[in-house]
Amino acid sequence: MISAMPPTPIQPQNLLTRSLSAVWHPCSQMKHYEQFPLIPMTRGSGVWLYDTDENRYLDAVSSWWVNLFGHCNPRINAALRDQLETLEHVMLAGFTHEPVVQLSERLRELAPAGLGYCFYGSDGASAIEIALKMSAHYWRNTGKPHKTQFISLQNSYHGETLGALSVTDVALFRDAYSALIRQQATVPSPDSRLAETGESAEDFALRCADKLEQHLQQHHAQLAAFIIEPLVQGAAGMAMYHPIYLQRARQLCDEYGVHLIADEIAVGMGRTGTMFACEQGDISPDFLCLSKGITGGYLPLSVVMTHDEIYQAFYADDTARGFLHSHSYTGNPLACRAALATLDIFAQDNVLAANRDKAAYLNTIAQPLRDHPSVKNWRNTGMVWAFEVNSPHRDFAQRCFALGLKNEILLRPIGNTVYFMPPYIVTNNEIDFIIHRTLKVVSQLV
Ligand SMILES: *Cc1c(COP(=O)(O)O)cnc(C)c1O
Repeated sequence: MISAMPPTPIQPQNLLTRSLSAVWHPCSQMKHYEQFPLIPMTRGSGVWLYDTDENRYLDAVSSWWVNLFGHCNPRINAALRDQLETLEHVMLAGFTHEPVVQLSERLRELAPAGLGYCFYGSDGASAIEIALKMSAHYWRNTGKPHKTQFISLQNSYHGETLGALSVTDVALFRDAYSALIRQQATVPSPDSRLAETGESAEDFALRCADKLEQHLQQHHAQLAAFIIEPLVQGAAGMAMYHPIYLQRARQLCDEYGVHLIADEIAVGMGRTGTMFACEQGDISPDFLCLSKGITGGYLPLSVVMTHDEIYQAFYADDTARGFLHSHSYTGNPLACRAALATLDIFAQDNVLAANRDKAAYLNTIAQPLRDHPSVKNWRNTGMVWAFEVNSPHRDFAQRCFALGLKNEILLRPIGNTVYFMPPYIVTNNEIDFIIHRTLKVVSQLV
């Protein structure tokens, strides 16, 4: 037996400065860490994260929406240990292996009808790149090479590589790179907060679908695909909308010969109450993109699922007709095995049913928070909750994050929107904790 040689330990008091001198952190203005220091973490267990001083934090955002069954989940750990002793990685061009085949077959069983083929990438943005390229390449292979444009919803977020940014409508992430991007058109978001007073979420969604139809009517000849985040636009601030929009979008895309790409990177894997959000509109997209929760939050992996008609358009003797996109770690066995262990937990623990009870419990005990005079637009879809806070602080998000940590809870507001996306193993006691501490934090910031 060879035992693991840990790298020379870093003294906890040095971790911060050494991180700031060597690591460029994501989604950050590095200078802000002078005022809001990094938190040096050592371990995780269940919904809890622990720092070098053994302070604990309840991970109410599932570590950027990826963790489904808690940190250091014993079942996922065991599966990974087993896989580590068997096969850590092999290239997927010219080779195959058990975890990738099993995962593809199981996803096909779970996914909306017809999505029989899995193409793997390594993160969410790479799945979006794959779906966009596959869609345009399909049209090229089928004699419509002019169908190269895409549309997305206003306030959409689909990742931050250049192709994904071209269908992302968040100015802060996009503007610095606008010269590098072939910006695509957007259509109105059915975000139910934007409905007129007295207008139902459903009527508003239908009105937005009419706008989509107008756009398709005019531009369908150039359009390859319409890309959406089904039911919840995450980075827009958990904007939620009525599932009728999915139904209309599917009908209209069929009518005008445009692909529908469902970006379920955040909302897939049970987050909206069904395994996939598309189920709630009773639709099957042409491309289904999954990542984030697919490995339970353990390892980077993404998958684009598509149906036979798309697959067949690439199947030929000519190499150039094939989908030649490649990633070094495509279908990595460890990541696939983590995903299989994650699917096992869904099946063995009847997770979706248990989540319905947890969601009902949270909605009930959250009443004092919902009734707080500075809290508005309380909303919930499955295991996602969000609300806006009326606060005089312009840096509300940063203050809320910092004050949350002082109160042992990891909240990461988007602007003035506070949201919860807890791991599914959260208990009722922990839900009490989330609500109680959030109420305390919010009360101090208004
Ligand atoms: C996070 C996210 C992405 C991008 O995934 P990464 O793994 O961060 O590249 C794309 N779409 C949606 C809806 C997301 O939430």
